[in-house]
Amino acid sequence: MGKPLYSDFFTKELLLWYDQGNARNLPWKESKDPYQIWLSEIILQQTRVEQGMSYFLRFRETWPSLEHLAKATEDEVLKAWQGLGYYSRARRLLACAKRVQQEYGGKLPADYDALLKLPGIGPYTAAAIASFAFDLAIPAIDGNAHRLFARFFGIEIDPLSSLGKRAFRQMGERLIARNRPADFNQAVMDFASAVCRPKNPLCEDCPLRPGCRAFAERRVQELPIKPAAKTKEKRFFYYLALHLPKGQTCIRRRPAGDIWQGLWEFPLIELPHKIANPLSQIRKKTAKEWGLPQGINWRMRGPFKHVLTHRELHLTFLEGRLDEVPQPLKKNFRLVNRKNLPTFAWPKPLVHWAEKIAEM
Ligand code: SF4
Repeated sequence: MGKPLYSDFFTKELLLWYDQGNARNLPWKESKDPYQIWLSEIILQQTRVEQGMSYFLRFRETWPSLEHLAKATEDEVLKAWQGLGYYSRARRLLACAKRVQQEYGGKLPADYDALLKLPGIGPYTAAAIASFAFDLAIPAIDGNAHRLFARFFGIEIDPLSSLGKRAFRQMGERLIARNRPADFNQAVMDFASAVCRPKNPLCEDCPLRPGCRAFAERRVQELPIKPAAKTKEKRFFYYLALHLPKGQTCIRRRPAGDIWQGLWEFPLIELPHKIANPLSQIRKKTAKEWGLPQGINWRMRGPFKHVLTHRELHLTFLEGRLDEVPQPLKKNFRLVNRKNLPTFAWPKPLVHWAEKIAEM
């Protein structure tokens, strides 16, 4: 790819816009502390700034340095992360803190390739830390950069394809202001969020309009190229909240290799497809696996739909009472007092349900 037309114009106008009081004021921008920058970048992966802000502030208050965070337990971090989703990020955050503590004495390395090798740090996050914390001229290419570059330069390549990843990265390397890499990366993000928005971009007031190819060719809505949508896998979960003697219920930790690894859940029956009357199957399975009597009077609520990036979950909650705890249930689950349920880290769609059961 040759030197893009209008590239000097692009960088100059973008930074001018940034300097005219358009930079967003965010708490992690107030310092060059690599720990805070890394923390904010991990929290903001797949999360809106408005939602991530309170989590960032809470994490920073609980664990003011990487050294503090490296000493936390997985349960503590998962609990603090509760509600943000994508829990593998929380586990990798902790793994990364421990590794940096061990290998770099608690200081994130000022080196793009070394950052890339750490848990949970991909090309975008490594570039963001490298530029924001260490002023290295590495372009941070995310969905905002894809949109802005694709529109301004009229690029018709899927940015998420391997060819696209390379092309957009090279374009960023040519455009980045070597004397102001952090400002350039931040300006791309802020400009794409505020002006070159996914829907209804403010083209009429846009300072980049004179050089914008998509605008000139009336292709703004067509760019960036979107990959064909994949159909989401559907899963059907039936959660059983059991009222056991002495105010107890039973829960377990989700296993590795599936969604919500390490979080807590009630006994779960998963059925392969949608069934009009699932109770007879649930009775059979719970009798076989955990020795539950078939005559339990279940109160059923749902199904409720919960959408994840690659999956669509259909969740049904069942409540029932047992006077005796069968051995297989004791063996497979942890018996806990219902009042303590809110102290565990739950997947987002189970938080409300766990709180409700705790109050009963
Ligand atoms: S003119 Fe419109 S499409 Fe082009 S950069 Fe500006 S806001 Fe984006």
